[in-house]
Amino acid sequence: MSSVRQISLGGVKIGGGAPVVVQSMTCTRTGDADATLAQVRALVSAGCEVVRVSLPSRDDVQAFAQIVREAPVPVIADIHYEWRLALAAIDCGAAGVRVNPGTLGERHLAEVVRAAGDRRLVYGGDGREIEGPVALRIGVNAGSLPRALRATTPGGRPPSTALVDAALAWSRKLEDWGCLDFKVSVKSSSVRDTIAAYRDLAARIDAPLHVGVTEAGTLWSGTIKSAVGIGTLLAEGIGDTVRVSLTGDPVEEVRVAWKILAALGLRSRGPDVISCPTCGRTEIDVVALANEVERRLAADPRFVERALTVAVMGCRVNGPEEARHADFGIAAGAGEGQIFVRGRRVATVPESDLVEALFGRIRRACEDEHAG
Ligand code: SF4
Repeated sequence: MSSVRQISLGGVKIGGGAPVVVQSMTCTRTGDADATLAQVRALVSAGCEVVRVSLPSRDDVQAFAQIVREAPVPVIADIHYEWRLALAAIDCGAAGVRVNPGTLGERHLAEVVRAAGDRRLVYGGDGREIEGPVALRIGVNAGSLPRALRATTPGGRPPSTALVDAALAWSRKLEDWGCLDFKVSVKSSSVRDTIAAYRDLAARIDAPLHVGVTEAGTLWSGTIKSAVGIGTLLAEGIGDTVRVSLTGDPVEEVRVAWKILAALGLRSRGPDVISCPTCGRTEIDVVALANEVERRLAADPRFVERALTVAVMGCRVNGPEEARHADFGIAAGAGEGQIFVRGRRVATVPESDLVEALFGRIRRACEDEHAG
């Protein structure tokens, strides 16, 4: 159940059956265009398809304009409180503007909607100009609901209902003003509230949904909350674009988003390491072996975008069967291990040579595919 309506965000299709789009947000100072563009490029290398950049003040507008022009993917401006900055972002050619109606007010939101609709060209990445208008996001957060909709006492209105009420009210206003180029988010730091809100909203709205758990936390806990929240919704077909929100390097947000999509079989990008949890039968250091295999796969640009499965198994009892089902696999024994390529055992090598031998086979298979 992807959204009914499709929008274009600088040429990237969102909703209406398009593949779920991965996005993230920079955390450099926007006024430092070079640092922000460097981070945008790192995000794009990891698989980010749309990037959000905050525009906190007038002083940042010039740098923001440069970022919009030079970024390799469409840029969304993140705006709170100062509606004139949304107009400035639109003037810069931003592909999208995220507004939080709770921090803007109706009259000013109407101005932003009008300016977004009037814009005929936006930047789609690498300086390409794409036919507009600017896509908006109605970003409702549990922390900034209008006073009248805030959660009440225990047993009162559930917070998810308040989020949905606010999102529906603002969505209807935009539609009344003739704007259909928008997506909606209803994020909470509570995974349960987030899931409940999106389920409710998805049944009542045609607009594409931007899905995420806000302020999810550090890499470890935020990854778990995001995988549960975003994963549950995507598994039900709810969500057209995702942002994993982590306290840390945003490149990790992109990696986590792709892992969620791959785990659900929705999209895949890059290698996936399958490794056994080890047990009393384990005969070699599987933890070190699996980490080394994962590190090398991530570090080699030849593999970054390849959807390979590589199994690292710790014994000769269950290992060979699992290794056989992966594209490439190791089933280790005492002091040696077997290498599998696409279901066939191709070599048995000493433990110390396992990683080299495995990567020799992976490289050769990839080169053969390329040549073929
Ligand atoms: S593959 Fe072998 S070593 Fe690994 S958990 Fe299974 S039985 Fe244990």
